[in-house]
Amino acid sequence: MFLSVGVRFEANVEALNMVETAGNYSKHRRVPYLVEENGKLKTVYVPAISGESLAHAYQEHLVREALGMGLPVCDDCQRGEFYKSMNKVHLKKKIDPIPNDPKKIEEGILKSCIVEDIGGFLYAEKPPVRRSSVFQVSYALPIKSVALFATSEPQLHARHAQIDLSSKKGNAPEQMIYYVETGTAIYGFTFNLDLDAIGVSAITSKPVLDENEIKERREVALKALFRMLSSAQFGAKLSRFFPVGGITELIISITDHPFVVTSPIYEGYAEKTENRLKVLESFGESYFYAKSDEEKLPEEVLKEAIDYIREKGYI
Ligand SMILES: [Zn+2]
Repeated sequence: MFLSVGVRFEANVEALNMVETAGNYSKHRRVPYLVEENGKLKTVYVPAISGESLAHAYQEHLVREALGMGLPVCDDCQRGEFYKSMNKVHLKKKIDPIPNDPKKIEEGILKSCIVEDIGGFLYAEKPPVRRSSVFQVSYALPIKSVALFATSEPQLHARHAQIDLSSKKGNAPEQMIYYVETGTAIYGFTFNLDLDAIGVSAITSKPVLDENEIKERREVALKALFRMLSSAQFGAKLSRFFPVGGITELIISITDHPFVVTSPIYEGYAEKTENRLKVLESFGESYFYAKSDEEKLPEEVLKEAIDYIREKGYI
């Protein structure tokens, strides 16, 4: 089963993805973006949130949900340091001695860490072993119709230091000013999850875990997605720049084989997705589709999807 979610969210005054600090200036990530104006294409620079940033947050939610269900997470991943068994030092914490057979290495990693099962890993030693992430996530980008209104603007802040005047030497500053570039936009992003790949070897395409644990891991993957979206716990600087806004629209499709919803950056993405699914149905494939609206909250849509997966015996 393949799950695909399109999310639109409004974020005012956010600092979800900062890329560098030059002196006292923190810059927001910005990307070139194609927009159409008066029938002509042009490139504008807009604030964006990287897929890496969203993936990091999702994996942190995976850790929490997995531990809550008593499923294995390695020490590095538990700390939110996703080294993913990248070398002997990190792999030895899971399997010691390290086997020579790539299949055994993969199996050892999968059994000891759900984050590396779902998020993939790259063991870059001899023999190298690679596992693709079973979830995919796009950058969050301003939706096309209002991309020209997306802005990033520096905000001035000051940090104060208490100075003891009797011992004041030289020109110790009593306050330091700094700027944080904040973005404001209606963003859209896509998240895909291949439920069939969880607990299954990328080398042999055979299950590495027993069916019950695979079902539990699928459930963790879905719960983590639900939690990430419903709590808005993704991105940086949430402590003082928690975005003002929230999810405005959400669509979700579940199909037997890979199918990705039309990107929510486009107008009419929901209708297009539904029409594309109908074409799929004409080939004899069943599907699930749901969209949030005035009456149905994004969380209710996600729950419906999870219920559908449960009915199908997948979790
Ligand atoms: Zn791990």
